[in-house]
Amino acid sequence: MEEKMMTAEQWKEQDKQYIAGTYARFPIIAEKGEGAVLTDIDGKQYIDLGAGIGVTAFGYLDPEWKKAVLDQLDKIQHTSNLYYTQPCITLAKMLCERTGMSKVFFSNSGAEANECAIKAARKYAVQKKGAEYTTIITLKESFHGRTLTTLAATGQVHYHDQFQPLTTGFVHGDASDIEQVKGLIRNEKVAGILIECVQGEGGINVLDKEFVQEIARICAQEDIVLLIDEVQTGNGRTGKLYSYMHYGIKPDVVSTAKGLGGGLPIGATMLSEKLRNVFAPGDNGSTFGANPVICAGAVSIISRMDDDFLEQVVKKGDMIRAFLRGKPGVLGVDVLGMMIGVRTERKAINIVKEGMEAGILCLTAKDKVRLLPPLNIPEQDLMRGLEILAEVCGRTDKND
Ligand SMILES: *Cc1c(COP(=O)(O)O)cnc(C)c1O
Repeated sequence: MEEKMMTAEQWKEQDKQYIAGTYARFPIIAEKGEGAVLTDIDGKQYIDLGAGIGVTAFGYLDPEWKKAVLDQLDKIQHTSNLYYTQPCITLAKMLCERTGMSKVFFSNSGAEANECAIKAARKYAVQKKGAEYTTIITLKESFHGRTLTTLAATGQVHYHDQFQPLTTGFVHGDASDIEQVKGLIRNEKVAGILIECVQGEGGINVLDKEFVQEIARICAQEDIVLLIDEVQTGNGRTGKLYSYMHYGIKPDVVSTAKGLGGGLPIGATMLSEKLRNVFAPGDNGSTFGANPVICAGAVSIISRMDDDFLEQVVKKGDMIRAFLRGKPGVLGVDVLGMMIGVRTERKAINIVKEGMEAGILCLTAKDKVRLLPPLNIPEQDLMRGLEILAEVCGRTDKND
């Protein structure tokens, strides 16, 4: 059948036929977007409170980002990392200046950024302390990616089933029990500790300041590499450029991805002064990494995330909490900046499904409704989206 004649139902059937069955998709075929509004192929519009899982930080086709991408596309689209290109240098310098980190490795995704972080920690520890210092401690309920190594890092065993054996050398600590984590540190030959300051997929769990600071203190004292996974929390999402900045700590390695490219795939692993020379030629690499078009777009994103912008993110997060708190069917709201988990009486997945019918896109994280709106979402769109969300949360004719 000619594609332009196909109905939405026919496209969905062909997706089921030809696309590997790893996704339980919602019944929308996204066709175009502008700002915080997505339009499907039937012309129905949705206010997007999920931003492609925290990726389209400035919404769909943000004009400045698009111009930066297209200007670069007029010059060159790829060269490999055998040659120098300018956009990745500009981006790396910007990231280092804004974080105090010293060097950056660019890849294409969050999982790859974490793989690089883990490689950095292991190489550092083995060189510094000895060949047996390879263990990485991560936390229960964490999420670090889908590769076999980042799955091993992920502290949710239901992701591990069926893919054994995973990479060895990972143990999982309990974010609510610092003594248990200290026990792991005593009993293992630890290279690094990898944490998300706010667990995203794990349910928008904002870690306690004391817990994170104690981990950082032990890492500094024992020369254990402190790795912060900022794949979801990074790039302005929590109201700071990176979420660790809320905690008054200095990480050794920061990995990020999702929002950095404004919708194009990029991962970045930042290394502190202590690890600036950990990698030598050949230790890591990526054919696509540091793509000039994507890096040029990322420069336009990060350069606009100044103090005023981040203040607005905090303000909007506060607005979201204030609006939803106490609404019928809303049990509570967990917020850091615009990373939001809504605890609801109704099943989160049903709220997402019915919200979609009513014209909003949102996400789940465990049993919460997760909101990761574009950081620059116009207030009017945000309030309209929240009204719809509140209405769905308060429905009494429940299908759950
Ligand atoms: C999404 C996510 C990842 C994995 O990123 P991919 O780009 O899907 O590989 C890793 N860590 C965290 C915290 C994430 O939210």
